[in-house]
Amino acid sequence: MQTYKAQDALVLFSGGQDSTTCLYWAKQNFRHVHALCFSYGQRHTQEVENARRIAAMADVPFRVLDTTIISQLAPNSLTDSSMLMDREKPADSYPNTFVPGRNMLFLTFAATIAYAQNIRHLVTGVSEADYSGYPDCRDTFIHSVNATLNLAMDKQFVIHTPLMWRNKMEVWKLADELGVFDIVRNETLTCYNGIPADGCGECPACTLRRKGLEEYLAERNG
Ligand SMILES: [Zn+2]
Repeated sequence: MQTYKAQDALVLFSGGQDSTTCLYWAKQNFRHVHALCFSYGQRHTQEVENARRIAAMADVPFRVLDTTIISQLAPNSLTDSSMLMDREKPADSYPNTFVPGRNMLFLTFAATIAYAQNIRHLVTGVSEADYSGYPDCRDTFIHSVNATLNLAMDKQFVIHTPLMWRNKMEVWKLADELGVFDIVRNETLTCYNGIPADGCGECPACTLRRKGLEEYLAERNG
């Protein structure tokens, strides 16, 4: 890709495997990197504190935006602990871990903050390769919202999605190439049950993460 060493980037950052890999990817490709974390009523509040800690380790300024309102708009099992989390994607719909409107709103908030700080580049860890079927992780959605944000604010934002076409195994590989494999493995929190690093090993997020890790380690060590 084109390098943007003279420009800043704002990373949408949750402290999970994907956005942490993106944070370090951005550090390699931009002059200064800023992390924006969203508090939206996640079941596990330590997610935000874990993200803050990783940003500090990466020496990246960290901001938390309270967007709790989105958890009140549509039911989902990420924010409503009384709902039983879908382990599989239902045939005719999305898993109830889907938070409707989340990425649309997050990118809109991020662009608004970037506008105020005169930052053009937004980085998000969405992926179409290994996603749970969420419509707002697709490349076509990202292009659409990028065009809309540019029209909305008369700016030339560029939304970067370094993971868009990488499956979980390839995300591990990228972390390794960036020299942060151990940080991503040991410090990030991906687990839906709020357990850092290798997590609970049971939830859909852990299962996907571990499968990718095992595939990558087999390739690296094989
Ligand atoms: Zn888990």
